[in-house]
Amino acid sequence: MNNAKKFWIETFGCQMNVHDSEKVSGTLMAHGYAPVATMEEADLILFNTCSIRDKAAQKVFGRLSQFKALQEQGKKFGVLGCVAQQEGEAIFKRAPHVSLVVGSASYTRLPDLIAQLDAGEKRVTGLGEASDEAFETDFTRRDNPHRAYLTIIEGCDKHCAYCVVPFTRGKERSRTSASVLEEARRIAESGCTEIQLLGQNVNSYRDPSPAGWSFAELLARVAEVPGLRRVRYTTSHPRDFHPEIVQVMGENPVLCDHVHLPVQSGSTDVLRMMRRDYTREKYLERIATIRACPRPLAVTTDLIVGFPGESDADFERTIDLINEVHYTGAFSFKYSPRPNTESLTWGDSIPEEVKAQRLAILQQRQQDIQWHDNQRYIGRTLEVMIEGYNPRHEQWVARCSTNRIVNFTSSGLRLAGSTQRNGLPVFSQPMQVGEYVHVRITKAGGNSFVGEHVAAPGPGTPLAGPALPGVIV
Ligand code: SF4
Repeated sequence: MNNAKKFWIETFGCQMNVHDSEKVSGTLMAHGYAPVATMEEADLILFNTCSIRDKAAQKVFGRLSQFKALQEQGKKFGVLGCVAQQEGEAIFKRAPHVSLVVGSASYTRLPDLIAQLDAGEKRVTGLGEASDEAFETDFTRRDNPHRAYLTIIEGCDKHCAYCVVPFTRGKERSRTSASVLEEARRIAESGCTEIQLLGQNVNSYRDPSPAGWSFAELLARVAEVPGLRRVRYTTSHPRDFHPEIVQVMGENPVLCDHVHLPVQSGSTDVLRMMRRDYTREKYLERIATIRACPRPLAVTTDLIVGFPGESDADFERTIDLINEVHYTGAFSFKYSPRPNTESLTWGDSIPEEVKAQRLAILQQRQQDIQWHDNQRYIGRTLEVMIEGYNPRHEQWVARCSTNRIVNFTSSGLRLAGSTQRNGLPVFSQPMQVGEYVHVRITKAGGNSFVGEHVAAPGPGTPLAGPALPGVIV
């Protein structure tokens, strides 16, 4: 291993990219490369990039220029992912120290492409069109032993007017249900208890094998894999979010109490311009289905402000929608025109200061809603999975089924005298990352809870208690 070439990878963007980096790392390691902790130690420096917003793409070029001087030490630079697919060979002009540009459809060819570099090629590209197959590999290197990502579908066949994904990730390709279940079983057998199924639009999953399972059927079967305690999925498209998905979620508590359902705008006129294929009313019907689930489910969303042509009245409709839905969280952004997209040709008609003002109003209102709704959790007990320990605040950091962060103390269980081992506190009942414990919520902010570790409630005791009148989980 000492003579192995060393690589370092930095990831930008969504969970799909994070998981792609895990697959790239595993593939490189299987071909004799060793990962290192810092860029300075590496022979090959890779940036796995995101181009969903202009800011994200610019950040990559910023990072590239920051480390340009390392090229003089013989290090090689590669750009992977969406910016690579979108900009192609133009990256060599903008960042001449880059010698490898590989789009997400060509990752399986990475070892060959890197071998070409090693053989003396100055510039190597892998920019083929998205293949018919999802990027699957036996060599995924998962850093987190407790939560694992699992891709079920790649690409997207929708053509939202503002989105680069169909251009950078290609057409939809679903994996066979057998291959998804086999990987889920392998993950569970390794001791990992939480899986997040990934895809640009998981709802349009369609098993290509004769079984022909829908997403709801796949979800139900993954949730039955022995050893799994939590199954999440992201992301959903409202048009394809069918009631069967909610039915399956209601039947199996392993499926987490959370749906991420991006709405983008509360105005049907803007949704039409965005080519989202649903109206405000249709979206609210989906929300009503989710609310009718026997188990309360948290709903989060994505929102764009300042889309070309968005009027003050359209924006008010978005505010009105968040007031009505009471999301437990929202990712909101100012519109930015992206290459190749339909809306690029419509101009960026909303002035930057108007976009900024709308975003501030939206985010403030959403924070108020979250803070207010979260107060109702005080006094309730939640099951959480421990993700880490914050020594500065002397708190464990954990996540509950709805995906909210819960910071908690366990003072009553700490051993007197001996308080630290390997940087972690020592408890009379040992706790560790990946473990599931119960926490009574004592304080609630807009984005997270604070609580105290308590003994597990007796059998039959409802964890969070029955939904209180007017409470939206
Ligand atoms: S559904 Fe629309 S926003 Fe989502 S990835 Fe596909 S084109 Fe982009």
